[in-house]
Amino acid sequence: MTGHIHSFESFGTVDGPGIRFVVFMQGCPLRCQYCHNPDTWKAGGTEYSAEDVAKRVLKYRNYFSGGGGVTVSGGEPLLQKEFVTELFTRLKKEGLNTCLDTSGAVFDEARKEQFMSLLNVTDLVLLDIKHIDAEEHKKLTGHGNENILAFAKFLSDNGKKMWIRHVLVPGITDRDDWLERLSAFIDTLKTVEKVEVLPYHTMGVVKYEKLGYDYPLKGVEPPSAERVENARRILRAGFRNV
Ligand code: SF4
Repeated sequence: MTGHIHSFESFGTVDGPGIRFVVFMQGCPLRCQYCHNPDTWKAGGTEYSAEDVAKRVLKYRNYFSGGGGVTVSGGEPLLQKEFVTELFTRLKKEGLNTCLDTSGAVFDEARKEQFMSLLNVTDLVLLDIKHIDAEEHKKLTGHGNENILAFAKFLSDNGKKMWIRHVLVPGITDRDDWLERLSAFIDTLKTVEKVEVLPYHTMGVVKYEKLGYDYPLKGVEPPSAERVENARRILRAGFRNV
């Protein structure tokens, strides 16, 4: 089984617990306006076998302190879930902690057995909920959020641990009523371990210039510390089940 990979990061500290080896998969069906990895959007990338990637990860196993391990991110890793399933199966056999960083946008209830095969070898899902409002989600990413919310419920119903991540963007996601709706949704989930508010930043702009893409959020500034704290307070109120 081979997978199309954008890049690797040997010592990731922001994608899950502890120190992690991060595998960035190539290809994503969403077009988030704030995406800082637009170079992962198109299919392609370098082809690797799951065995080769597992060997590469295992070289770093002595550094995976603090509950660390491997995270597969993107792009959208669920587009290549068979590859990720094989990779995680190999790494679980070696006792590694496995983490999947996804938007859940390609979740399909009709193929839930395939998703379960991957989740059976996944210790933690980092689930990005981009916007709680379906219409606003479509404006922000090009797709509705129905599959994403269904995936969150699927994880909860099947006892799969998740961290919810939400990017706070002034004028786009940062409004108290939207945050309260998201908080109420999080409150319906039973397996949320953590809620992370990620302040929007402009570090991806340079990549858009390189790729010759228009940057959709020109002029939008990162949120203030007060608004970030406000979002954290509202979203944590929906985090009572753990
Ligand atoms: S899901 Fe992630 S990789 Fe895909 S467009 Fe959105 S931010 Fe970028």
